[in-house]
Amino acid sequence: MPHRHALILLLFIVAGVLAGGVAGWIWGPAMQSVAWMGDLFLTALKMLIVPLIIAAVISGVASLGDVRKLGRVGGATLLYYLCTTGLAVFIGLVMVNLIQPGAGLNISDGEIPQKVLEKEQTGAVDILMSLVSPNLMAAAAETDLLPLIVFAILFSAALTTVGERGAHVIAFFDGVNEAMMKLVVWLMYFAPLGIFALVAARLGKAGGGEAFLAELTAVGLHVITVLSGLALHFLVLGLILFFVAGRGLDYLVGMLRALFTAFGTASSSATLPLTMECARENRVDERAVRFVLPLGSTVNMDGTALYEAAAVMFIAQAYGIELSVGQQAIVFVTATLAAIGAAGIPEAGLVTMIIVLNAVGLPLEGIGLLLAVDWFLDRFRTSVNVWGDAVGAAVIGRLMHWNDRRRQSS
Ligand code: ASP
Repeated sequence: MPHRHALILLLFIVAGVLAGGVAGWIWGPAMQSVAWMGDLFLTALKMLIVPLIIAAVISGVASLGDVRKLGRVGGATLLYYLCTTGLAVFIGLVMVNLIQPGAGLNISDGEIPQKVLEKEQTGAVDILMSLVSPNLMAAAAETDLLPLIVFAILFSAALTTVGERGAHVIAFFDGVNEAMMKLVVWLMYFAPLGIFALVAARLGKAGGGEAFLAELTAVGLHVITVLSGLALHFLVLGLILFFVAGRGLDYLVGMLRALFTAFGTASSSATLPLTMECARENRVDERAVRFVLPLGSTVNMDGTALYEAAAVMFIAQAYGIELSVGQQAIVFVTATLAAIGAAGIPEAGLVTMIIVLNAVGLPLEGIGLLLAVDWFLDRFRTSVNVWGDAVGAAVIGRLMHWNDRRRQSS
């Protein structure tokens, strides 16, 4: 997308978010009448994800060259993601220990939401199992992206080993990828309206401004803890971007369309097409755009990780249960795992939180405490998730460049 168009579109998207907030605040439930517009935008984005991810990952992995390089780049990407997710959990734990949002809170037993009840037995092994699917079509139908990505990586690696015939297939997926990115650019022009409707309708569903404010203040300190933790991590990622990837504010500005879309949709998977297009316009190495971003959108969720740690500690405090340093270490590990296991869809973090709660023996009913404001915090954590992916792509892209130059000079 031309630079001027991108800036104008960004202004319209910001206006869309603000107008959505104001309309939802003032007119409350009446704004649910525009929900269809948001759903249309979201559904159109989702329509692009499966073909885009498959084509991007296949052509991205193939462009890495030989299979050994895939191992190195893949390893570096996963290590980087693990470190930044761990950092996010750490920040969450520090904030919740400092602010103590749940201390002295008067709780009556909450209720366990249905979607949590269905997954009550979820454990760490389930995260491992989610890497594969017995039926790729079923996975695609449910937009269950991780098995599709794993398959695309393996498939592409195999293609690179079968010579000319493999090269034809790779060229086909290169073409599909290019065409999908064109569709993304076209769809982007509808983002302002779509995001306006998503924000207005959701705030309307919450009952409008005053009802929402009452719910927000009931757990005000929890909201402050999460939002300040997310803001801090956002800055930390900015520092990594500056010092490791050598990029500055222009990179953030270039990513803003994706970040606001993440805010509007509360889904990092649905935002992925925009994240890729913005990163590409931001001159991120094309190999990183096609490989690092799709992987990141499903496994790298810094905001979710931070939220899970902070929320579980909040629940413990609200129930008057003291968690020792050892138990907080368990929260650290399981929150990282739970974030990796969370799908990039709205409020997925709430469900994988079961893993963390079970690990330290806290009541699942505690999740009831978070329900009223979860949709709101979800939007901020999803934006941080997408920012984490974007910074990751810039960092890994830079590492690839260094590596290329080192090879050329040796
Ligand atoms: N909505 C988040 C995402 O799509 C996941 C979550 O934290 O619930 O990235």
